[in-house]
Amino acid sequence: MKRALSVTREENFAQWYQAIVAEADMAETSPVRGCMIVKPWGYGVWELIQGALDRRIKETGHDNCYFPLFIPMSFIAQEASHVEGFAKEMAVVTHHRLKAVDGKLVVDPDSKLEEPLIVRPTSETIIGDAFRRWVSSHRDLPVLINQWANVVRWEMRTRLFLRTSEFLWQEGHTAHADEADAREETRKMLEVYRQIVEDVLAVPVIAGEKPENERFPGAVNTYSIEAMMQDGKALQAGTSHYLGTNFAHAQNIRFQSASGELEYCHTTSWGVSTRLIGGVIMTHGDDDGLRLPPAIAPRQVVIVPMLREKPEDAEVLAFCDLLKAELDGLFALGAPLRAIVDKKPARAANKRWDWVRRGAPVILEIGPRDAANDVVTLIRRDRLREGDKIVSSATPRAEFVGAVPALLAEIQAALFAEAKARLEANIRTDLTSFAEIADYFGKAAEDDEAAAAFKGWVRAPWARPTGAELEEVETRLKALKLTLRNIPLQQSAPKGVCVFTGRPAVEEILIARAY
Ligand code: AMP
Repeated sequence: MKRALSVTREENFAQWYQAIVAEADMAETSPVRGCMIVKPWGYGVWELIQGALDRRIKETGHDNCYFPLFIPMSFIAQEASHVEGFAKEMAVVTHHRLKAVDGKLVVDPDSKLEEPLIVRPTSETIIGDAFRRWVSSHRDLPVLINQWANVVRWEMRTRLFLRTSEFLWQEGHTAHADEADAREETRKMLEVYRQIVEDVLAVPVIAGEKPENERFPGAVNTYSIEAMMQDGKALQAGTSHYLGTNFAHAQNIRFQSASGELEYCHTTSWGVSTRLIGGVIMTHGDDDGLRLPPAIAPRQVVIVPMLREKPEDAEVLAFCDLLKAELDGLFALGAPLRAIVDKKPARAANKRWDWVRRGAPVILEIGPRDAANDVVTLIRRDRLREGDKIVSSATPRAEFVGAVPALLAEIQAALFAEAKARLEANIRTDLTSFAEIADYFGKAAEDDEAAAAFKGWVRAPWARPTGAELEEVETRLKALKLTLRNIPLQQSAPKGVCVFTGRPAVEEILIARAY
């Protein structure tokens, strides 16, 4: 069967992912290693994710602001585990001038900075420095801010959207008078992420706490939402950190309490990145390209006129323009409907496949006969094929226009339901020993073909080992290319014994291969 992408998921999932990024016109690699050029279709998706999340961030009481790209090196050094966690992946600015020597450009040694600057990998330290100045009394708290920015982490193994050296994100930073408030904030924002990722991106996730070894550098607790990709691997889709008073101690962020005592603030931070777009691709894409949930589709309804360079073309175009004008007046999924007439001078069939690959939720093909009969020929991207056949249906124009908001909501729900069913069907809860887990994933670690075979996640009882014991668990898992994902917030009563230590379990943890 001919498919619209050059490689299918089954043939090679990693190559399929690269193909979809390119062929759906989302992004491309840049001349700078590990960085990406986000193309208009990909950026349009990001803007819609941003818009929805930004609204929720503001509804939950936060204000946006902006901090510098450069952070003095000494700031990063203030919090010990923070510097340890990030030291290996920092871009450092040491000079500020070039000069020509023998016709060649070189860095001017006379322009050496007194103190090197690092390009922000995250902004806790520079924002903490401002918090120190902004906060003096309990009346100044809480401080609830967010910034939309780019950050740089010098990643060695990069993949477009999923892991890049420069990425776009939002980072929320808050300071509170007491622990309970800060903990509530951490969990509240995790829940905001869960809602946005599930309701807007149609990607089901499991929210939980990261085990100690997977915590953000400098955090007391890290929470994540984890999504299952179509190859069974987990993708960390968002994180929220309770930082305790670690950064407050390191940076002297203190306030005078109501009773007059000087106390340290409790701080939090939370972020999601352009990685989410990679998650959307690997959750909803198929062998014909991307399938975008309507809520994040830059164009939800694409009207393709079938032009033949004949006099009827004018009527077809007039019909398409009128239809678009009608659609422009509608609302779908809480926002003005986004429609376009694709008038590019290309063959209609090529245009159709372009939009199929890009994942436009609804594609309408309009020929002279449709225009004359006042009907539209409709393709639903989420149900493109039945077996080998492309499914299209002829619908009276007025009927289509009346039903399109409900149709888009239905597509949104259908994509979520499909992904949710896959997630639920692929978490094993019946493996009760490490040997059984090793057996399930085992072969995968040994040869490439088996490694490509679909394996889901395991949810296993564990006793929350720490320190050296946890390190040993990590080592055993690493040999199987596995990681601990999170300890789901929703737990049933613990049963059985820990698969790693043999002690009575206190809770269950998710184990998976991951991006
Ligand atoms: P963190 O500050 O490490 O908690 O990361 C915040 C968010 O950014 C998480 O959702 C990560 O999944 C995401 N993220 C971390 N590193 C990268 C990267 N190299 N490229 C894209 N997203 C990333």
